[in-house]
Amino acid sequence: MALVRTVPRVTPADAVRLAEELYSLEVTASELPSERDRNFQLRDAAGAQYVLKIANSQESLEVLELQNQALVWLADHVPDLAWPRLVPSRAGRMIEERGNFIRLLTWIDGVCLAHVRPRTPRLLSSLGRALAQTDSALETFSHPAARRAFHWDLRQCEMARPHLDLLSPARRALVEPLLDACAALDWESLRHSVIYGDANDYNILADAAGSRVVALLDFGDMVHSATVCDLAIALAYAMLDEPDPVAAAAQVVAAYHRERPLTASEIGALVPLALARLALSVCYAAWQGREAPHNHYLNISNSPAWALLECLHGMPHGWPQEVFERACRGDAGEEQLLAARRLRVGPSLSLSYDRPLHITHGWRQYLYDSSGHAYLDCVNNVTHVGHGHPRVVEAAARQMARLNTNTRYLNELLTEYTERLAATLPAPLSVVYLVCSGSEANELALRLARAHTGRNDVTVVDAAYHGNTNTLIDISPYKFNGPGGRGKPSWVHMAPLPDVYRGPYRGEDAGARYASDVAEAARGGVAAFICESAVGCGGQTILPPGFLREAFAAVRASGGVCISDEVQTGFGRAGSDFWMFGTQGVVPDIVTMGKPIGNGHPMGAVVTTPAIAASFANGMEYFNTFGGNPVSCAVGLAVLDIIRDERLQENALETGAYLLHRMRELAVRHPPIGDVRGLGLFIGIELVRDRATREPAGQAATELVNRMKDRGVLLSTDGPFHNVIKIKPPMVFSRADADVLVDGLQKVLSEMKRP
Ligand code: PMP
Repeated sequence: MALVRTVPRVTPADAVRLAEELYSLEVTASELPSERDRNFQLRDAAGAQYVLKIANSQESLEVLELQNQALVWLADHVPDLAWPRLVPSRAGRMIEERGNFIRLLTWIDGVCLAHVRPRTPRLLSSLGRALAQTDSALETFSHPAARRAFHWDLRQCEMARPHLDLLSPARRALVEPLLDACAALDWESLRHSVIYGDANDYNILADAAGSRVVALLDFGDMVHSATVCDLAIALAYAMLDEPDPVAAAAQVVAAYHRERPLTASEIGALVPLALARLALSVCYAAWQGREAPHNHYLNISNSPAWALLECLHGMPHGWPQEVFERACRGDAGEEQLLAARRLRVGPSLSLSYDRPLHITHGWRQYLYDSSGHAYLDCVNNVTHVGHGHPRVVEAAARQMARLNTNTRYLNELLTEYTERLAATLPAPLSVVYLVCSGSEANELALRLARAHTGRNDVTVVDAAYHGNTNTLIDISPYKFNGPGGRGKPSWVHMAPLPDVYRGPYRGEDAGARYASDVAEAARGGVAAFICESAVGCGGQTILPPGFLREAFAAVRASGGVCISDEVQTGFGRAGSDFWMFGTQGVVPDIVTMGKPIGNGHPMGAVVTTPAIAASFANGMEYFNTFGGNPVSCAVGLAVLDIIRDERLQENALETGAYLLHRMRELAVRHPPIGDVRGLGLFIGIELVRDRATREPAGQAATELVNRMKDRGVLLSTDGPFHNVIKIKPPMVFSRADADVLVDGLQKVLSEMKRP
């Protein structure tokens, strides 16, 4: 029978009477919450306080004796913590009986952990230490009643299984594997002892300031089991309602391990045991909720427990475990990595953020670091369909195991992929070259243009970046005019960045005027005009209407070809169009692709017209060792499938519009936001020191990005003045993510306003 049905029927008035009769105390009584007993807080006229515990009628005397002995033992062995003292009755007994067993304990002042927010690292560490001290003391404690059948003992988690039927199918699917994993643990490899067994956040008392744990309460769950269960149970509750649950838990683990080192098997069991505790909690809440619908305490942790289970379920497999292992090693991992990197990795490569991140896992639109923090990734436009997408992983692994060669053999994947890629483009763009990066794609595009036109020169827009090779640095003002740059070569002709916020033309006719500057820059007869369909490194610059249409017309009229660099902008990011050049109503002669094409697998592509392809076939072969290999084609196909199946272009349109709308609202209230612009999930927020002068606020942008990182949101800056916050997240970015981002920006911008 459910213990909740046999909770003693005792009122506060009864408690007052019992206190008088059994303990000669004149008190007032108020009821305390309990799962299966009846507990009262008693207070006498002098202010002395006690807890009167009236046990469930199914409780055995032996188990109460176990608890009493353990309390005395712990008070002797763990002087750092306060322990309730047993108060003998008038008759000198520690346990009285009036139908139910009755005990009186001294009261301990404190705030229960459930009510302490935020929980500082110091508080969490003191919890770990308190548990370790308790466990160390109990190692040498024994009592025959501790070896008992008990439904909260994680080793006996099978007892919860019948209650799975009470859960909805979706919730059952979440919880059942957790019971399976717990039952399948190698229990014999874990140290065993009598454990406290109930470090839930209502049983842990902190000092009034909430800075350290002062006491553990309620010994009703003591049982002989794997000792590490004590810590795992504490972790389950330490994570409840925490914004960064794994980081919080890691603090507890590290402190515990410092005080009482865990074995490798114990560390390995922490995650399954903590999850199993949450599983038991929701199973028993469902069961007890049915048996005792009016006992509110039974459900107190239920919705946070479900929320935490879902949150943990969404995390990359193995990550929390790795965080705990690292917390136990306590290694100065980041410093070592940084030093090794400085020694061996060329110093021209910088790290993001003031304090660099050590990211160990990625999943969907989230990144996870080595110390247990999760981050919303708002900048990675490479992992287009989400970090670690299982379909991409599977496609790559399967094909890697089967065959990976160059493209000099017939292969279905190559033809299928080139066919599918070409089908995303308007006619006459139909001939595909597969390469390994955006830079390779742009290099090849220039060769195609030069072969086709017999010319050498190139027109570009200011602030553009097209890649990392010699030639591409030469056509990238972002680089040749930046630090270390050698200036513009004579064969490169530069038109202004078509920026309607900061550039020379800002009115209705800006598109036409910027286009006429391109016409001017192409007048001498260039091989190509290359331009992104929205300028990424230039500062997330959205092209004004008509710009590409008129620029392309002028370039073509002078005999050049038009290259759309879609490395950042392609594959549906624009929302309205699969290729962002579509938003300008043009069809280029050559399109280059990279970044999202392989979701992180190194790939690039060039697509052009049969006429240009024919000009390029002049006898010199184009061979690319890795480009178009079957693994890349399998990955590329998976990416196209996922974009279609998960309706990611539609998501870019809807979520992008929502995010842009919220950003514009934010701009109204925050003067540093000079401009908000975007297409789909390609958005820029330009920060200024003064809205009237539009003086760029590069330093504020850097500060904002670093502060957002500390809040768990990853952004970065771009543009010639590094004052544009760029937002181009994985395309699985949701409305809820947009809210997290905007609410975070709102908070940080408000804080930054203060001197
Ligand atoms: N074109 C554009 C617009 C880019 O943003 C980049 C990379 N930032 C490249 C080309 C070069 O791509 P990759 O780094 O893959 O060579």
